[in-house]
Amino acid sequence: MPVPRRVLTIFGTRPEAIKLFPLLHALAGDARFASRVCVTGQHRGMLDQVLTLSGIVPDHDLAVLQPGQSLDQLVARLLTGAGAVLDREAPDLVVVQGDTATAMAGALAAYHRHIPVVHVEAGLRSGDIHQPWPEEVNRRIIATLAALHCAPTPRAAAALWAENVDPAAVHVTGNTVVDALHWVRARLAAEPRLAGPIAQLQARFAGRRIVAVTCHRRENWGAGMGGIATALAQLAERDDVALVAPLHHNPLARAAMQEQLGEFPNVALVEPLDYPAFVHLLDIAHLVLTDSGGVQEEAPALGTPVLVLRETTERPEGVEAGTARLVGTDPQAILAEANRLLGDPAAHADMARAHNPFGDGHSAGRIVELMARLAPAA
Ligand code: UDP
Repeated sequence: MPVPRRVLTIFGTRPEAIKLFPLLHALAGDARFASRVCVTGQHRGMLDQVLTLSGIVPDHDLAVLQPGQSLDQLVARLLTGAGAVLDREAPDLVVVQGDTATAMAGALAAYHRHIPVVHVEAGLRSGDIHQPWPEEVNRRIIATLAALHCAPTPRAAAALWAENVDPAAVHVTGNTVVDALHWVRARLAAEPRLAGPIAQLQARFAGRRIVAVTCHRRENWGAGMGGIATALAQLAERDDVALVAPLHHNPLARAAMQEQLGEFPNVALVEPLDYPAFVHLLDIAHLVLTDSGGVQEEAPALGTPVLVLRETTERPEGVEAGTARLVGTDPQAILAEANRLLGDPAAHADMARAHNPFGDGHSAGRIVELMARLAPAA
């Protein structure tokens, strides 16, 4: 009997959990691997929602979240915490996803112990180290030390080659977010109650077109959020529209929205939604305004046009496919584009063609095979 390879997957935020649960499901069903999970708790409630939904029970929980801690303090706690878990677990492989502080610190701690790192969703680049901040640098750091780079798209793979990453270590796998989306849509179809509060909002706003909104990026805190909220307040003057905005837990990401949008009868500012409820919202929305990375990947798969509330995107594939458009945070630019899509059915239909350049829903299986090649069972 070959000895299974020990894999430790380290993650800490909601988007990482969403993009990793399909891989964790695949590893759990594969006798070549013994899969262990370390969560850092960089998010708390939003992370735990996804863990419960997907049935992932962490073996370690670093619970690093502390109110008001600086990035330095966070990274220091993550690095020493992940290092201690690695010393106990001594895995053959470490998996990290994306570009969070957790992913960067987890990868660095593994590198310090000469443990090969698998980077899921490798090769995204905005080309600007300040946007998204600090994620652009986190992912570049991970790219310098990973042993296996799972690029979601050919463009992401090309970005890694351009940085002289060993081409033999780079593979286009698709993005596991599409695997997650398929899984959750099947769950929603079987259990419609998972749509949660969105079903009630749909009834409350019957006859209006729903505009979904999410914004939380650090680089938008302050002036950016103010501009977005100003645009949304003007959009809410339309009587054919209702805005549904799940707020992020971070107070800095909530303040402007609550101040400017709290009083409108056709605006629902809600707590972070469980993943199935959020997917249902994206599905029924006429359009989505977002600064999120994952939402830019999910909405095209559902045929919902996306206006990206950022100046740059590391996911230009959606823009090229015609389902996403960059509008930044200037209120006039946001309003003009939203009003155009609400007023011109042909323009909306052009963007609403369901198309997904980010994956086919089989990414996790591909990544598991690549991991088996990297670390064959002994
Ligand atoms: N999401 C969710 N509930 C919400 C808002 C978003 O489950 O109320 C999901 C969404 O489907 C996507 C992920 O969270 O998969 C995006 O997370 P976020 O915007 O926090 O991070 P980013 O994608 O920008 O890293």
